[in-house]
Amino acid sequence: MLKVKNLNASYKDLQVLWDISFEVRQGELVVLLGANGAGKTTILNTISGIVTNRSGVVEFLGTDIAKLPGYKIASQGIIHVPEGRRLFPEMTVKENLEMGSLLPKAKAKRKETIKKVFDLFPILLEKQHQEAGNLSGGQQQMLAIGRGLMALPNLLILDEPSLGLSPVLVGQIFDIIKDINQQGVTVLLVEQNVAKTLSMCDRAYVLENGRVIMEGQGQELLNNEHIKEAYLGI
Ligand code: ATP
Repeated sequence: MLKVKNLNASYKDLQVLWDISFEVRQGELVVLLGANGAGKTTILNTISGIVTNRSGVVEFLGTDIAKLPGYKIASQGIIHVPEGRRLFPEMTVKENLEMGSLLPKAKAKRKETIKKVFDLFPILLEKQHQEAGNLSGGQQQMLAIGRGLMALPNLLILDEPSLGLSPVLVGQIFDIIKDINQQGVTVLLVEQNVAKTLSMCDRAYVLENGRVIMEGQGQELLNNEHIKEAYLGI
């Protein structure tokens, strides 16, 4: 579904991605792992057209999208839920969800999709008329994911959805991501929560200093000596 080949990206003169190649197949849940500054967010921002100083191939459903502007990439069905949620704090929960379905195809199915999002996150139904800025951190993360789903993604990209949440909420968010994936949405997830994500994903790529240093199935990487030492403290 998504094929990234030999991707390089820079901020001004500073190159931060070096020859990155990876793929996400239809229906998979794939994780990009790595420490702070490894380049995970930059990869996501390059795919969705936010970082434009780049070279290499980004192929989505057979088409090279590397040179397309962000809005065209979104209209192909790549929906990016960014780090830090970026909600509209003074709009209600329902209005935020509606903002996720502005493209014609999604707008036509708005009522049906919002019902599905409320089924997935009953707390959002309960709080649909409250301002998004008044929700707790976990509820805001649910709203950000819900807003992403409103766009009817072919590929849902999630950047550190567990950031700043309590362990109980992290567990809930991961369960919901797994549910969304099992309902047929392909997911590309960036996380620092290595143990949890490796145990639930299909495959993962490990990044260090802007390069992919390892790839494999989640369980396989959980048993890898380098991963155990560098990321799991075992
Ligand atoms: P984090 O988990 O901290 O978000 P990350 O793996 O997502 O880390 P990136 O945010 O992609 O890493 O950062 C990769 C490198 O690019 C880092 O060295 C970072 O300092 C640098 N960088 C990120 N954003 C910018 C920017 N807007 N301008 C200049 N350098 C940047």
